[in-house]
Amino acid sequence: EATTVVVVGAGVAGLTVANLLHRNGIGCVVLERHSRARVERRQRAGVLDFAAEQVYLRSGLGDRLLSGAPRSGLLEFRVDGVPRLFDADLHTDGRAGRLIPQQLLVRRLVSTLLDNGGEVRFSAADVALHDVDGARPHVTYRDPDGVAHRLDADYVAGCDGFHGVSRARIPPEVLTTYRHSDDVGWFTVLADSPPPRHPLLAINRHGFAAHFGRGPGASRFYLQCPPGDDLGSWTDERVWRQLRLRLADDGLPDGPIVDKAVVDARSFVVDPMSHGRLFLVGDAAHIVPPMGGKGMNLAIADADVLARALTAAVRDGDDGRLREYSPTCLRRVWNDQEFSRWMTEMVFHGADETTAGPFRRQLARSRIDRLFTSSAAARAFAELMAGTA
Ligand code: FAD
Repeated sequence: EATTVVVVGAGVAGLTVANLLHRNGIGCVVLERHSRARVERRQRAGVLDFAAEQVYLRSGLGDRLLSGAPRSGLLEFRVDGVPRLFDADLHTDGRAGRLIPQQLLVRRLVSTLLDNGGEVRFSAADVALHDVDGARPHVTYRDPDGVAHRLDADYVAGCDGFHGVSRARIPPEVLTTYRHSDDVGWFTVLADSPPPRHPLLAINRHGFAAHFGRGPGASRFYLQCPPGDDLGSWTDERVWRQLRLRLADDGLPDGPIVDKAVVDARSFVVDPMSHGRLFLVGDAAHIVPPMGGKGMNLAIADADVLARALTAAVRDGDDGRLREYSPTCLRRVWNDQEFSRWMTEMVFHGADETTAGPFRRQLARSRIDRLFTSSAAARAFAELMAGTA
């Protein structure tokens, strides 16, 4: 069996590549390890930045994918209980992002692709990539009945996330891996409780906490915690008590907690993001810390660059853009790594005296203050939130 592009992984990255290719009439098959139900349930990000929104609007997918997703123009910084509203809309001339839970976007990407005649093979086991540095790569896998299959292709898009198999096909001698870990821990909670009026970052001497909406009746919270913290110590009662303290909101409504996780605060980048006919997209190539809200958006940006480059190569025989794929993506990746780190330091150090010390705490609070006193600083921040086109 043969196709033009095999896409490994049906996350935001793989599904965006596949939808964009499909719109351009380029054949592709998506292979996904998990079932459709599992892929469509995974709740992670919630804000689509302006640059990512444009990817879908430009390709004519916007109406279908983003209907009902409200704009996210305001961001609240609550410093020791005192609220300050940052108006991202104002400082970027209306280029604010949209609020859409990642699993809703994934669900819509799947149904749009399938309704348009695209193909996703779910529950594909033992996916393996072969000959990616040759003229004709192929991908093998087993279907849910255990039957082995082989798909020949011109190109492979490795969109299988941080723990996927694609990245390992780039030989270590040509790959530079960058890693960085903060000496802070992140604890995240997903609850069926009312979302905040605006995305909320609470910089508080009791520790940092964030509250984001994930649809009309759901919230994601982040709490700063010691690195490697024990999940078991976070009873529901302690979660709500700490949230009320840090958000300085005694009346914060609670609700059933549906997920708790200690998140790795890792930053990770590989360079190059391609090898031969294999192209890594999204988390397969890079991880950013969560506070900049860029992980999902970078995955969409990579997917857009790759779909255009593949289209030029397949339709026009022009593979110049494919050669530029990795440097083009990495410029944005490093820009967003820097932003995410800057943001993480600002909110963590501003809150936490124990690891950062009182001097850095004052510096971080001064950074926050500047966003409200300098329109140039506010504009620079809002532009980074909007994403680079
Ligand atoms: P993934 O979403 O991980 O998709 C990869 C897909 O590949 C999966 O479906 C997986 O099952 C499949 N796969 C893996 N291995 C194989 C294999 N061997 N064969 C076949 N298929 C395979 N980002 C933001 O922008 N804002 C946020 O607020 C935000 N919050 C987050 C909160 C949490 C708790 C987490 C974990 C992440 C968050 N992120 C956020 C990051 C964001 O979710 C990721 O950056 C995004 O999912 C990347 O998309 P992806 O398609 O590259 O990878």
